[in-house]
Amino acid sequence: MQNRYNFFPLQIFLMLWFAPLGFQAQVTIHERNASGHVPSFQDPPRLVVGIMVDQMRFDYLTRFWHQFEDGGFRRLVSEGYHCRDHHFNYAPTSTGPGHASVYTGTTPSGHGIIGNAWYDKELDQQVYCVGDSTQTSVGTDTRAGAHSPHRMGVTTITDQLRLHHQMRSKVIAVAIKDRGSVLPGGHLANAAFWFEGGEKGHWISSTFYMDALPEWVSDFNASGAAESYRRTWDPLKNLNTYAESGPDDVPYESPFRGEAAPVFPHDLPTLWEENGGFDILKSTPYGNSLTLDFALEAIKAEELGADIITDFLAISFSSTDYVGHKFGVNSKEVQDTYMRLDRDLARLLKYLDRNVGKAEYTVFLTSDHGAGQVPAYLRDLKVPAGYLKTGEIQKKFQEFLRFTYGRTDIIRGQSNNQIFLDHQILNNLGLSLKEVQETLAAELTGYDGIHQVYTAYQLRYADYREGIAAIVQNGFHQKRSGDILIVPAPETPAYPATGSTHGSPHIYDTHVPLIFYGKGIRKGESIRRTYIRDIAPTIAVLLGTAFPNGATGLPISEVLK
Ligand code: ZN
Ligand code: ZN
Ligand code: ZN
Repeated sequence: MQNRYNFFPLQIFLMLWFAPLGFQAQVTIHERNASGHVPSFQDPPRLVVGIMVDQMRFDYLTRFWHQFEDGGFRRLVSEGYHCRDHHFNYAPTSTGPGHASVYTGTTPSGHGIIGNAWYDKELDQQVYCVGDSTQTSVGTDTRAGAHSPHRMGVTTITDQLRLHHQMRSKVIAVAIKDRGSVLPGGHLANAAFWFEGGEKGHWISSTFYMDALPEWVSDFNASGAAESYRRTWDPLKNLNTYAESGPDDVPYESPFRGEAAPVFPHDLPTLWEENGGFDILKSTPYGNSLTLDFALEAIKAEELGADIITDFLAISFSSTDYVGHKFGVNSKEVQDTYMRLDRDLARLLKYLDRNVGKAEYTVFLTSDHGAGQVPAYLRDLKVPAGYLKTGEIQKKFQEFLRFTYGRTDIIRGQSNNQIFLDHQILNNLGLSLKEVQETLAAELTGYDGIHQVYTAYQLRYADYREGIAAIVQNGFHQKRSGDILIVPAPETPAYPATGSTHGSPHIYDTHVPLIFYGKGIRKGESIRRTYIRDIAPTIAVLLGTAFPNGATGLPISEVLK
């Protein structure tokens, strides 16, 4: 009895004293095989940071390379693994599908995000990819927060991480754009935040994640962080040294409202009211800087990467897209935005070094789509390019419908260069759906600016392996997509004559950077073609989690140690 009396308190004392260590020891003492090899999934990073740079063409890395400093893009490329022939293998190449595809490891044919918005056959109306009328905003009185990932029918790598660790992993998603945050966060994110401009300039969320903003977010909103960017957008360096982009004052750019010309300096305080208050920040590099300020606060407040259970921070830099749409891929403004993003990336990596640990985190950086040159600029250079004249096409097409079928109401909806037919009317008229699709496709193929036309019937029953046909098919969702899918000619978008856009299956829209960096990642580069849907499986192998449940991509094996 004497012994037991003495023994128990001591044992309890030891248990209490060593409990935290004992728990850690169980998890960190790796199961080695005979050769002493530790499987990578037994020693995963504490934090994965997924970086999406909205509308980043591959060649921005190479074109602006000399303007980058050592700590940002150059550090990622030189010390990480660079996949140089990395592509989207589906269309439409737009933001919603892009973010969904990176994180689900599949294409719109599988995850169902077939556009930023699309005509929904069942609801007979346009729907927004992350719109959710069953949710309400958190942190604002407007509807800007009524979002969720409910239209994405499969899991993300971030979901799988949460499931794998019994919800002990933290997943936080951050972007100016709601869809750039909601889709990467997946269905199980602890939180996704996005930016509402207007008069307040606040980070907000949705009841899908929480009932009220965490204190640190309210504090950040009250801190004046967004307000601190209400200042002139000057170039980072003397514009004369920006040899990698075109002249500043050209007709291919659209100035801010109230500006006489699309040139530096862009005087934001003067332009503020006319351009939607805080919304103007979105179309400047300050939007990216503010996103990073907020993301760093998230790392600190949510203690991301603080323990050995892997956390995930999904950041999307949206401002690159707004700037590209406004000024075009060859503009001084785009160049300055990437030079500034480079400094922001250096700031992020430095922060991670200090606060998570130099060898304790893994980063990947990619984009949600590329972008084309401004067609008007190419046309002036006598390169074939132009604009899809949708008004003229509509008119001609309606005439054809009237002439051929005596009516135009067989068309029920349109979105993303897809035409949705009214199957009920065709049925009532005794018309074959397949034949009508083929007739309309043949007609449209003859129109100016239209390169190719595919029918749903074709995409349903063939199995395309390469070229534009395969890209269109990977974007084709059997339940959601239209009956006729139109591919515009290269560099021929339906778009105003200023600024750049994207969305096509052409190579300038599909070719984007992919860089992996940090724990578990080899140093090197490859020009083997890789696809956007391969990213999530690669991260799954690194972390030892299950693949997202709709994944069709393959791990990029050369990337991993
Ligand atoms: Zn985008
Ligand atoms: Zn300019
Ligand atoms: Zn865009």
